[in-house]
Amino acid sequence: MRCVFSEYLEVEPGIAASQRSGVTRWLRLLTALRDDLTTTVFPDDCHLCAGSLTSWSKTPVCDACLGRVSPQQDSLCLVCGEALGMESARFAVALGADACTACRLAAPEFARAVAFGRYEDELRELLHQLKYSHMQRLAVEPLGRWLAEAIATLAPQAGRDVAVIAVPLYSARERARGFNQSVLLANAAIRHLRKTDRTWKLQSAHDALRRTRDTEAQFSLQPRARRSNMRGAFAVAQGAGLRGREVLLVDDIMTTGATARECARVLRRAGAANVWVATVARAQPETAILMEPGDVARWGGS
Ligand SMILES: [Zn+2]
Ligand SMILES: [Zn+2]
Repeated sequence: MRCVFSEYLEVEPGIAASQRSGVTRWLRLLTALRDDLTTTVFPDDCHLCAGSLTSWSKTPVCDACLGRVSPQQDSLCLVCGEALGMESARFAVALGADACTACRLAAPEFARAVAFGRYEDELRELLHQLKYSHMQRLAVEPLGRWLAEAIATLAPQAGRDVAVIAVPLYSARERARGFNQSVLLANAAIRHLRKTDRTWKLQSAHDALRRTRDTEAQFSLQPRARRSNMRGAFAVAQGAGLRGREVLLVDDIMTTGATARECARVLRRAGAANVWVATVARAQPETAILMEPGDVARWGGS
């Protein structure tokens, strides 16, 4: 059943070169249409639990799996969003500041980082599906919607007129993957927010920041070494026009915060008034311990 449209999408041998690019465009369009139709008309199995999908949805994940993802409930550092352990929470309250030890010792250059959920279980699987199984539609629903919820919590401090910049991938890595998941997530969240509230003035400015070095293979480094390895890995484009702007940096996952700190540093240096950070997921310390080696390798220590 699933292949019912495929025979119409085969390239005819010997087709003229001048016609090829137009044909390729049409083939891409038809393939996308076919994927949408087959998923909607002939629902797939859930990509997470392999159970049958009974609802008529473009999201290839069942309601039960989606229902197990919830916003973070922990007591969090009000700066970087790390879960405060019992002791750390008591210490923070005693000092009258809900910030973790790391933020008190060396305040990051970003004003605040928020994340929708913990990087674990179903949420981790959904992000893997997006990045490594090329399930780009997950960026729109549900991941982009959840990211929008996290961004909305920043509005009282950051306002609603912000330049949105996705953390860039190194160019070779983006070419290999075919897309930057953070750009897809940021754009989806912008659309969700504009739909829910017209007072949002979010301008995507992804080209303002670029990654000048591939730092993804730094998973074996300790947090301090990761931070110094990140130094100089990002650059702000000439004429980015960020002076005096509130900037929202978007990424899929925040782990050690080294990426966010370095991006914030260069964005502030380029004149950004404040840098705010929003991610779909936050790896909390207990989560990091539970991570598998392969996961850490792909995770890349951002
Ligand atoms: Zn499921
Ligand atoms: Zn903190």
